[in-house]
Amino acid sequence: MVPVKKMQTIDPEKLAELLRRHQPAVALTGAGISVESGIPDFRSRGGLWERFDPMEYATIQAFRRHPAKVWTMLREMDALLVQARPNPAHLALAALEAAGLLAGVITQNVDNLHQAAGSRKVVEYHGNAHRFVCLACGRLTPREGLDFASGPPSCDCGGLIKPDVVFFGEPIPPAAQKEALDLASSCALMLVIGTSAEVAPASYLPFTAKDHGALIVESNLETTNLSRRLTDYFLSGPAGRQWPRVVKKVLDEADAHGPADRA
Ligand SMILES: [Zn+2]
Repeated sequence: MVPVKKMQTIDPEKLAELLRRHQPAVALTGAGISVESGIPDFRSRGGLWERFDPMEYATIQAFRRHPAKVWTMLREMDALLVQARPNPAHLALAALEAAGLLAGVITQNVDNLHQAAGSRKVVEYHGNAHRFVCLACGRLTPREGLDFASGPPSCDCGGLIKPDVVFFGEPIPPAAQKEALDLASSCALMLVIGTSAEVAPASYLPFTAKDHGALIVESNLETTNLSRRLTDYFLSGPAGRQWPRVVKKVLDEADAHGPADRA
C-alpha cells in the first residue's frame, strides 16, 4: 500500500532555509499572485469570465470569426492590466533571483508584472498582453505602438492583430513549453505560487518536477487539490505578505555568513 503523503505547513523563515538547501529552485505562478496588484482572477467571482463567456470571447475561433466583438472583451482586459503594478510578492521573487536562489519564474499570467518587478528569467507560458501579434504575418508590436480605442487594430499587411496571449484553442508557444519543461525537470525545489495548477498543460509542471525528485512548496491562501496530491510544504497567507519575509530571512542569513557566502 502506498503510504498517505503528509503535507507540512511551513513559515517564511523555515522556507528561506529550505530554499538555501534545495537548489536550483523554480517558481510557477498564477493569477493569485497578481490579485494583490488589483487584477482579479478571471476565473473567480466577479472576474472577466463571469461577464464574458470565454467560449464566446476567448477562443481563437471566436476571434477570427468576430474580431470586433472579441475586442470589446480585450479592451476591458487591457484596462485591468495596464494600471497594475508589481506587488511585494513579485518584487520578492525578483530579489530571490538576484540573490542567486531562483533559477526562473514560469508564469501563467500575461500581465508582465514579474518582468516589471525585475525578474530576468521569466517563461511566459500563456504569452504577454503587453505585446501584440498579427495573425497573418506574425509581426510583433508593443502595446504602446497601437491605437485600439476606436476598434480592432489591423496590421500594415491587413491582417488581424491580437494580444500575444494564448487564447483557448491555441497551443502553448513551443519555446515557452520547452523552457518550462527544462526548468521543471531540473529543479530541486518548485515554488507553486498563487495557483492551484489545475489548467492543463501548466498543471503537469509540478508533476514533472516531482517525478524528477523536486520538493513542492505551495503558497496559496487556502489549500487546493494540489495540496492533497503533491505538495510537500504549504505556505499559507497572502503572497505579498509572506514572500518578503522569506527574502528578509535569506538576506539576513547572507549578511550573517559574510560576503563570501553570497558569491
Ligand atoms: Zn501583418
